[in-house]
Amino acid sequence: MKTRQRTHLARDLGPDLIGQRVHLCGWVETLRDHGGLIFLHLRDGSDRLQVVLDPERLAGGAWLLAQSLHAEDCVAIEGDYLRRPEGKDRTCLDMKDTELEATALTVLSRCHSLPFRPQQRDGVGEELRLAHRHLDLRSDALRQTLRTRAETNHAMRDHLREQGFMEVETPVLGRSTPEGARDFLVPSRGAPGEFYALPQSPQMFKQLLMVGGVDRYYQIARCFRDEDQRANRQAEFTQLDLEMSFVDEDDVFELVEGMLEQVGEAVGVEVQTPFRRLSWEESMRLYGTDAPDTRFGLEIVHLTDLFDDTEFQVFRRFAETGGTIQAIAVPAACAMTRTDIEAVRAHAASLGAREPAWARITGEETLESTIAKFWSPEEAAGVARRMGGRAGDVVFFMAGASPERVARVLGELRLYLADRFDLRQDGAFEFTWVHGFPMFEVERASGRLKAAHHPFTRPDSEEALLSGDREQLLQLEARSYDLVLNGVEVGGGSLRIYQRELQQKVFEILGLAEDVIDDRFGFFLRALDSGAPPHGGIALGLDRLVQLFCGKDSIRDVIAFPKTQSGQCLMTEAPGAVAPEQLEELALVSARPRLAS
Ligand code: ASP
Repeated sequence: MKTRQRTHLARDLGPDLIGQRVHLCGWVETLRDHGGLIFLHLRDGSDRLQVVLDPERLAGGAWLLAQSLHAEDCVAIEGDYLRRPEGKDRTCLDMKDTELEATALTVLSRCHSLPFRPQQRDGVGEELRLAHRHLDLRSDALRQTLRTRAETNHAMRDHLREQGFMEVETPVLGRSTPEGARDFLVPSRGAPGEFYALPQSPQMFKQLLMVGGVDRYYQIARCFRDEDQRANRQAEFTQLDLEMSFVDEDDVFELVEGMLEQVGEAVGVEVQTPFRRLSWEESMRLYGTDAPDTRFGLEIVHLTDLFDDTEFQVFRRFAETGGTIQAIAVPAACAMTRTDIEAVRAHAASLGAREPAWARITGEETLESTIAKFWSPEEAAGVARRMGGRAGDVVFFMAGASPERVARVLGELRLYLADRFDLRQDGAFEFTWVHGFPMFEVERASGRLKAAHHPFTRPDSEEALLSGDREQLLQLEARSYDLVLNGVEVGGGSLRIYQRELQQKVFEILGLAEDVIDDRFGFFLRALDSGAPPHGGIALGLDRLVQLFCGKDSIRDVIAFPKTQSGQCLMTEAPGAVAPEQLEELALVSARPRLAS
């Protein structure tokens, strides 16, 4: 883009501009002094280019200035854009066979503080880079991820606008939203002793927009959850949040699939639709998790019924008492050695499980195993058949009293095996919908019921909900869904309750007293009582999605100014102490005062 100070970006330069005089601005990335000539790489926000500084071509005192240049000085250069002379080895960049022959040089600003070179990765710890994020932002790595992030936002906005969505901003200063995490609180000066809560999500506001007839809403919303920082999470994160009226699950799924297809095109990622759909139960049964990595097989196979009448006591005990026998088959192509097999068994033990028995399939209905000698020939044949009957596959068996726990361990072994044998397809993006989660879970400490998604989620059966019967409630399915990408949850949503009576009942089931319900949610219940439409929606975790699209290990790599795992900004040193007057104005007294310097 042309400005008063420059005619082009490095990216714009191409064959059609050869021979032209251009003005570029940017940073000195590297310098090579060849005595008579200086070569530098000029980097701007778009690309980089080789510049030749030749005393014979530079006007005025520019040659002296050229000799004083340092890495990361900010400069303006005027010059002729030329094809690089053949036969001369003055190539520092392999990307272009052109260069800029400088005719004028201005130093716009000197770089006096350079704790590391932006492109330097080795030997530069993350903390140092976070403390000088302005320099790290000059690196290609960070620039690219931020570009992908911007393109992702852009494509989402385009798609949603085409689909009739309206972008609406909801308040950041509000009251607590029950997403299950701790709130960040902001003291009110106007109402001393009272607090705003930063939104954990715009959940109630987006539902109120539906009641208000907005019909289709979205927002790229900043959300805040004051949780103890687990690895690869940020207390402050971004969601693509959306809500639609008069919809079912299928409508939400189709919308999101279309949108992510468009995002994929924009960022060069192949997104194949429709996404696979798994009920929560299936997901738990086949993968032992509600966020399955479906880039490879190794699904869990259930064998309990094959051992109903077995003579083999170990299995019989579990088969008869509601326990389980499950297995996974590792393909022959992995060519598992005894060492590999023992490593898998040891890994199971490290997960707190018993070391699994194993077998090698030898044919459609045959297998070799030390435990198979306790089985009848029919049982052995049945197992081989159900495990796929492919000669050479290695099968690991686990039996236990709790089907969920056994599946969970086998689910972990699946991931371990995928790592060990590199089973995940490189560059594949496998999206899966997991739907129909339980409506309630039991809170461990109190034994109380809590909402598995959030309390606004619509149950599958109104009768079961209204019955209030604990057993029925624990069996109740929610009209909720998660979006999983390559084994990572990247979004979640649900159809919502839109009748006051049902919503009130959920609050009661969650143990909220009537006055608390009235105080915290009275406005919301009244809204539901004023002709609320059926509605549903979803929120996608934008940071996580972009991280996966960019193939990065850390969420911090796709956030311009991230915080550390302990919630600190190493650059601005937030959080920080405040002046006593500020506390006074807010009518606050700190139990552990730290005064601002
Ligand atoms: N508010 C939910 C969340 O943040 C998403 C939704 O239900 O739409 O997880």
